[in-house]
Amino acid sequence: MPKGIFHVPVAYNEPILQYVPGSPEKTTLKATIAEMRRVEADIPMYIGGKDVRTTKRVRMAPPHDIKHTLGYYHEGDATHVQMAIDAALAAKADWVALGWQHRAAIFLKAAELISGPYRAKINAATMLCQSKNAYQAEIDAACEMADFLRFGVQCMVEIYNMQPQSAKGIWNYSEYRPLEGFIFALTPFNFTSIAGNLPAAPAMMGNTVVWKPSKTAVYSAQVLMEIFIEAGLPAGVINMVTCPGPVAADVVFAHPDFAGFHFTGSTGVFNTVWKTIGENIPKYKTYPRIVGETGGKDFIFAHPTANVKAVATAITRGAFEYQGQKCSAASRAYIPASIWNELKNYIDNDMKAIKMGPPEDFTNFVNAVIDEASFNKLAATIDAAQASADAEVLWGGGYDKSVGYFIEPTIILAKKPDYTTMLEELFGPILTLYIYDDAKLEETLDVLDQTSFYALTGAIFAHDRYAVEHLTTRLTNCAGNFYINDKPTGAVVGQQPFGGSRASGTNDKAGSVFNLLRWVSVRTIKECFVSPTDFTYPFMGEI
Ligand code: NAD
Repeated sequence: MPKGIFHVPVAYNEPILQYVPGSPEKTTLKATIAEMRRVEADIPMYIGGKDVRTTKRVRMAPPHDIKHTLGYYHEGDATHVQMAIDAALAAKADWVALGWQHRAAIFLKAAELISGPYRAKINAATMLCQSKNAYQAEIDAACEMADFLRFGVQCMVEIYNMQPQSAKGIWNYSEYRPLEGFIFALTPFNFTSIAGNLPAAPAMMGNTVVWKPSKTAVYSAQVLMEIFIEAGLPAGVINMVTCPGPVAADVVFAHPDFAGFHFTGSTGVFNTVWKTIGENIPKYKTYPRIVGETGGKDFIFAHPTANVKAVATAITRGAFEYQGQKCSAASRAYIPASIWNELKNYIDNDMKAIKMGPPEDFTNFVNAVIDEASFNKLAATIDAAQASADAEVLWGGGYDKSVGYFIEPTIILAKKPDYTTMLEELFGPILTLYIYDDAKLEETLDVLDQTSFYALTGAIFAHDRYAVEHLTTRLTNCAGNFYINDKPTGAVVGQQPFGGSRASGTNDKAGSVFNLLRWVSVRTIKECFVSPTDFTYPFMGEI
């Protein structure tokens, strides 16, 4: 137990390296990519501190170069999920008993490893595995992951410092116990940092975890495990199983010691899981905590007084960076007719300048989408828009999967505000625009509010201050992360706590105290210094 009230280092955002030509970081990153392309990886599961291999090896390929083999991962089955649960439960007592400063030190060390010796490796893995360009990999895998860990430790201590008042003669205090049982972290493909944070956050608060990464992100998930292990994470605290999601779900959600679910992914999967958990409630020893950050249909709303060039840049960056595969990516935009002609020219310039191709060629802004299923869905959406009388494809519209899953950045004009691509999350480089009559601004705000089930991110652009206030108020429930005169992507840990409401999730704000509080169960302790020894009260006397 700690013999001192220790202060943790003040958290800061990891500085973003720029990878300019000739920079040492660019040279190192290129060399690391070349090396990782040269050597085929053989990725085990990590269960109870052991590398576990199976007879079923699954091939991994970069989405932008599908003929190249990055390596193989070993696919597990229900027995491996059970082993991971057993390992998590076996590791629990020692992990809970360890002084919190040691937990803090492990995750702070992991942040330093990411910031330094593992930076190129985690970025290169993310570039190759998820088809991110160098900058997108840097802000995700290196910077956001380090930020989650450093701010996480700071938030953990803020929570521990939240203590009740004590009246004379007694001492009250709150103890932040990890949940009883194990946590299940189920993670998406699109952010290496989210994949790492979902198991790390509950572990930081003293829990032990079963983690199932996305099958399309196992290559970078393995680097995270390597880092956690090198940072000194004890065996069994985070157990990584690579098996199909439903296989893991069947075992995990039927287990009496299941205590919490940390999820980021699609709304459909979250809804299915929530239902299963509900049906299984009588089986559990404790009511499980359910945290899920899910889909989005993120908007840009331009006011007639908007800076038109800034709107164009927000569209280009917000909709097409990482091929629109950010939960926060702009995918619908409402543009007043009065600025449309000017905006069209700026967008046209950007669309002509965007280069698409593999991330190993650093001049490419746009790379491939994650897999064939996503490619097929996006291509079908483009075909449907081409054929529809309610839509017009204004830019892009091309697609090709001969080398990798490439979808051209595409902008669709919707002729009615509820055209399907104004409603549904597509998760690709497709933005739909609706041009509104300036005189119908109020009606258009209603349409924006009511069109989609989601409420993750949104951006307004206006110069007029009254308009800024009005739009901000009118759209209160449309986004958990709201941007004024900026694109709706790129939330930074510690600066813009992230999460949405409605069908976008439980809005527990990843990387903040709100999230970390979900992984503890408070025990309130009252100590009485001089205990009463007489049951009677003064009021009971009579003269
Ligand atoms: P996904 O829902 O397809 O997969 C997420 C995880 O769930 C994966 O590990 C997958 O294997 C698993 N899974 C899939 N079906 C399952 C099932 N039936 N039972 C159990 N597990 C199952 O999501 P994805 O394609 O990896 O990620 C994209 C989605 O994530 C988008 O909808 C995006 O908006 C969302 N997302 C949200 C946020 C946020 O903070 N709100 C952040 C990133 C991504």
